[in-house]
Amino acid sequence: MSDPTVQPVPTAVVEQVDAADITLSNPKRAVIALGSNLGNRLETIQGAIDLLEDTPGVRVKAVSPVYETEPWGVEPGTQPSYFNAVVLVKTTLPPSSLLERGQAIEEAFDRVREERWGPRTIDVDIVAYADVVSSDPLLTLPHPRAHERAFVLAPWHDVEPEAQLPGLGGIAELLAGVGRTGVAPRVDLELRLPE
Ligand code: ATP
Ligand code: CA
Ligand code: CA
Repeated sequence: MSDPTVQPVPTAVVEQVDAADITLSNPKRAVIALGSNLGNRLETIQGAIDLLEDTPGVRVKAVSPVYETEPWGVEPGTQPSYFNAVVLVKTTLPPSSLLERGQAIEEAFDRVREERWGPRTIDVDIVAYADVVSSDPLLTLPHPRAHERAFVLAPWHDVEPEAQLPGLGGIAELLAGVGRTGVAPRVDLELRLPE
């Protein structure tokens, strides 16, 4: 007979707990790109970094300088400029759970998805996860456009100049090929590495 004092657990909660529970025994390195072009861009990016660090199974190991960049893939002058940064993390979460956390962080900052590459309070992209290569459209690794984006490569290069994009080569060479047009360092601004 069932115990009437034990409340049934709603399915959604069970699923959430399950996803958060899956951890790997040895931490993996991942590279995460953050971008914001609505609201207080610096504060929001810092908030996203702090939420990443607050995630069980995620440690933020390095935070890049801030870049101010022209919106990508849209008509010039139609959107506010972005602040972009890259963080390096070590994580025991598998890629899918890390993506889920990124999307939860986007929701925490009221990210609204309308048109493709539309303005947003925060965008959290998984640039690379260990040496994983995957063409899954839900989580493509490395990120399918990272290698052609100076706003990802420039801040990443600042914190990890020798890094490689799995299957695509060194980021220094990729950055040299792409150039730094439309991507300016904001040396007057600084993001904190969470304690
Ligand atoms: P872009 O992908 O060109 O940077 P975007 O960041 O504006 O564009 P979103 O609307 O944030 O695109 O994401 C669309 C979908 O991309 C997400 O729902 C997610 O499932 C998928 N996706 C695939 N690969 C990745 C990845 N490496 N990191 C983050 N999202 C990814
Ligand atoms: Ca993006
Ligand atoms: Ca995204």
